[in-house]
Amino acid sequence: MFRQMSLIRSFVFFAATVAATLVVQSAPPHPPVILIDPGHGGTSVAGALEERTNSSPNNASSPGGLKEKDLTLEFSGILKEEILKEAKRQGRSLGVMLTRESDVNLDFRTRAQICNRPDTACVVSIHFNATDGAKASGTLAVIAARDRNPDYETDKRFAVGLVSACSSGVRNCLPDSKDMGIIHDGHLHGGLGSNFFFQLQRQPHLKGKPKCFLEVEFIDNPVVEKALLGAGRAEKFHAIARSVANYLVAETEEVARLRK
Ligand SMILES: [Zn+2]
Repeated sequence: MFRQMSLIRSFVFFAATVAATLVVQSAPPHPPVILIDPGHGGTSVAGALEERTNSSPNNASSPGGLKEKDLTLEFSGILKEEILKEAKRQGRSLGVMLTRESDVNLDFRTRAQICNRPDTACVVSIHFNATDGAKASGTLAVIAARDRNPDYETDKRFAVGLVSACSSGVRNCLPDSKDMGIIHDGHLHGGLGSNFFFQLQRQPHLKGKPKCFLEVEFIDNPVVEKALLGAGRAEKFHAIARSVANYLVAETEEVARLRK
């Protein structure tokens, strides 16, 4: 009787162990997702300044009339393609998601909520820049300033590498373009900082995840327009996006490793 009980117990234990192993083995892997936000869109402001949700439809334009909101969408779609291609080449399981896929403007709360996924690896908001005088040329990233950013070091490390990767892609078409590194968002909204970062920081799944704006180039500069935005633009965007994709695929693995 005792021997029989012990055999039964052994069998139950064995069965439970097998079941547990099977559960572990059959659980689907949870690939990280890179969130890309094509800045701006549509024809009117989305959200409200007093709620810190306001997204403007367009900021920069090229001398020939190309709009930032269209270029951000075009570049983001190409970047998604290049990330998936690079991930496949490396045998990595990775997802990419855009906050918008058409010419619509979404307020910053909605954009932040789309980004708020447990599997989000990082958030990159794509922009094109403009400045007084229309003579600047370079790539830069914007991160939330240290005094209100618990993930400051994470964002900084991520954004410095991202700018460097994007800048080397841009310099293939525009050798004088500068790697302008990172700037903080303290100049925005009277020192309050970016409203998009404000909304992203309120999302529970985005704590500790790298977030930044990537300003690809200054499109109001006629030299930049000629070199990057005219004939053959798609090919040039692919070349820049490939460089960014290489970085993001490698970095997503690094971020996952650091979070373990
Ligand atoms: Zn912008």
